[in-house]
Amino acid sequence: MKKKTEIKMEKEKIVETKCNDKNCHIHGNLKVRGKAFEGKVTKKFHKRITIEFERIIYIRKYERYAKSKTKIHARLPICMENEINIGDLVKVQECRPLSKIIHFVVIKKIKDKDKK
Ligand SMILES: [Zn+2]
Repeated sequence: MKKKTEIKMEKEKIVETKCNDKNCHIHGNLKVRGKAFEGKVTKKFHKRITIEFERIIYIRKYERYAKSKTKIHARLPICMENEINIGDLVKVQECRPLSKIIHFVVIKKIKDKDKK
């Protein structure tokens, strides 16, 4: 019985670490380049998430800074789908346009939702 469960565990590990996703920056042939951002996950869909982060912009008329929010749609590789949840802090990097709105891919998870 023990052996069987061990084999099962190993198989699951292989499934976790490999994926058939073409648009995965680790296993597929998707190259990442360009800008990288960190942000909070606000929405999660199949193979896609949206992140949000604040940035400071300078307004010349008032000679002052203002906060503004930026929303980015990013591709979520299948091998990371279980790992990332709403509220997590993740890092995304630019890649080639995968669709009309997606030209970023999730690289790694920085922080959990619960940990501070
Ligand atoms: Zn993968």
